[in-house]
Amino acid sequence: MKSIPSKNNNTHDFSQHTAASIRATELRERIHTYDYQYYVLNNPTVGDSQYDNLLEELREIEQTFPELITNDSPTQRVSGEPLTEFNTHTHSEPMLSLANAFNKDELLRWDKRVRDNSENKTIDYVCEPKIDGLAISLIYTSGTFTQGATRGDGQVGEDITANLRTIRTLPLKIKAGATAETFEVRGEAYLSKLEFERINQDRMKAEEQLYMNARNTAAGSLRQLDPKVTASRKLNMFIYQLGHSAGAQEFDNHFESLQWLQKKGFPINPLIKQFTSIDDVIDYCEKLEKQRDTLDYDIDGIVIKINNLETQRQLGVAGREPRWAIAWKFPAEQAVTKLQQIEVSVGRTGVITPYARLEPVIVGGARISVATLHNYDHIQKLDLRAGDDVIIQRAGDVIPQVVAPILANRKVQNTTQFIMPTTCPSCDSKVTKDLDNAAHYCSNSTCPAQVIRQIEHFASKTAMDIEGFGEERSKELVNLNFLQSLADIYILETRYSELIELPGYGEKTLKNLFLSIKESKNQPLEKLIIGLGIRHVGNETARLLVQSFKNLDNLTSATIEDIEQIQGIGHVTANSVAHFFSIERNQQLLKTFSDLGLNTSANEQDVNGDLNGLIIACTGKFRTWSRGEFESLIKSLGGRYSRTITKQLDYLVIGVDGGKKLERAKELEINIINEDDFINYIEKGIYAKPN
Ligand code: NAD
Repeated sequence: MKSIPSKNNNTHDFSQHTAASIRATELRERIHTYDYQYYVLNNPTVGDSQYDNLLEELREIEQTFPELITNDSPTQRVSGEPLTEFNTHTHSEPMLSLANAFNKDELLRWDKRVRDNSENKTIDYVCEPKIDGLAISLIYTSGTFTQGATRGDGQVGEDITANLRTIRTLPLKIKAGATAETFEVRGEAYLSKLEFERINQDRMKAEEQLYMNARNTAAGSLRQLDPKVTASRKLNMFIYQLGHSAGAQEFDNHFESLQWLQKKGFPINPLIKQFTSIDDVIDYCEKLEKQRDTLDYDIDGIVIKINNLETQRQLGVAGREPRWAIAWKFPAEQAVTKLQQIEVSVGRTGVITPYARLEPVIVGGARISVATLHNYDHIQKLDLRAGDDVIIQRAGDVIPQVVAPILANRKVQNTTQFIMPTTCPSCDSKVTKDLDNAAHYCSNSTCPAQVIRQIEHFASKTAMDIEGFGEERSKELVNLNFLQSLADIYILETRYSELIELPGYGEKTLKNLFLSIKESKNQPLEKLIIGLGIRHVGNETARLLVQSFKNLDNLTSATIEDIEQIQGIGHVTANSVAHFFSIERNQQLLKTFSDLGLNTSANEQDVNGDLNGLIIACTGKFRTWSRGEFESLIKSLGGRYSRTITKQLDYLVIGVDGGKKLERAKELEINIINEDDFINYIEKGIYAKPN
């Protein structure tokens, strides 16, 4: 924000005044343009926080030089002229905007102003999630929904009655007992995150430009000329205010009126709460801010309102904002910045992933300078180019993403399409593309960039948990040729005399490092499997693999079909696992691990239950159990039930009429037992795995 002259006296010199006047005009023009893009076109070209900063700067100038305030200043009136395609609707009472508080101090200052200006010394508050959608006004006549409108410029909105009728949660007739002849309710129409996702998925399939966020999409959907289009986007709404009414029920406070509206069938947000102290209000705001990502709809803040309606009337309105309410604004989760360059990184499986290098920008309270671009197809679909202004998004801990370029800002002559490199940026080997997915790969399995990532992953907490093997150390030891494969970690100690010469590798550091490496040899097999970095294999799959195959030898010889038998492992994962173990280099690595003394078998405790992870199938009809009951029994005793006959099977239990499964089991020399023997086995507790 630019600094402006101080306002501690009224004797500003001429040049200060002129500078402020020029800047105010410039700010007004820019804000008018942004308002038009945001409210009328639903297509903003700057981020909300950038917009808020400009508005704040204008407000400060106008406070210092009140004579510069113009009637059309964006600080004085709500923006958003109605589209000419719709009939207009004049609001019986203006639909206002809200003042903002960006931190606790600003909220406390507002609270003090309220207390200073209120005749009522007891102040109650109502806190409401600030739904990030489009403000709507609904008119009911004799209990029937008759007209609905957008906020527009606050005085005049667009008549969007037909579109509003498509919202399922909008009561077309309210429950009996309404006393008012006509009354108005105000609220926010919005798109759920899920529905927004669905709409964008459809657009992606149709190769259409993706929508930026749920708010603009909701606004665009409601301002469609064809209500069928609106109906196809499943909009929703929350009502947050009882507006103007003729002969309506009288309420003392806002909260009561919301409860009444809820009884009449209007959707009222369930998180709305009332409080008697500002400390409790702050507590609520801080808690809800943390919950923000778990909600199914976007909220961009919390609205704090004075509960007592008489106090609201006393406090009145200042410019375009009521004095009795304030919005506690969250840090914006989207921002606009410049895409400086598209670069690529090489992952541990050789996948080459493009990412965006960005002009640093604050999003969701964090400084962002890189964002993922997923893959080449994604870049092409978005038509992203270096030099573009782009919308960045970051929600919670999610990796920042580039949502879309702002095509309106693109200067064509300065941009060229991104082309995927044909050689690996790390080792210069050829880049290949998978036919069945969008990924590009480096074809060299000993590519240093891959080895660095593999080692980092192998040594990480989720895998072998080797302390002291972070990103930097992995990179350094690979680049200095100490490590060329995962197995080299375990012979690092033999190069002590060279390592001790390196800066940062003192005696103590090395001793601790070697100790962690040695200790990691005893990690459970599951951790070793995770550490191998097989595509699609995470904690749960590794656990299932250990339970079924019990040691690396069994796993190495398993076929795709064997692996697919495991409940919880699908074809893609089975394929990936079998492929990994079929590669000679990987088999060699596992043999080296075994020779070096790493644990390659399941521990007793990895195999739970009385059947100790035995794989059991059945065939024929049983006297004692149905198929389903038999399956449940096996599982409840810690065994694994298999529907087919594979060589991994420990037992085939046969009832009457064994059929083909029995023949197959004989061919594979599977241990076959009948129902009575199996019951005996269970009762006597003899479940030794056959040799
Ligand atoms: P606002 O959205 O900050 O606050 C007022 C609105 O809040 C109301 O009109 C209502 O629609 C909504 N609201 C949601 N829940 C509510 C509740 N429980 N009670 C009362 N109101 C509730 O104000 P505004 O004037 O509509 O928009 C200003 C904001 O829009 C700016 O702060 C900026 O972030 C964004 N904006 C961005 C651009 C841009 O170019 N990026 C341009 C214009 C505005």
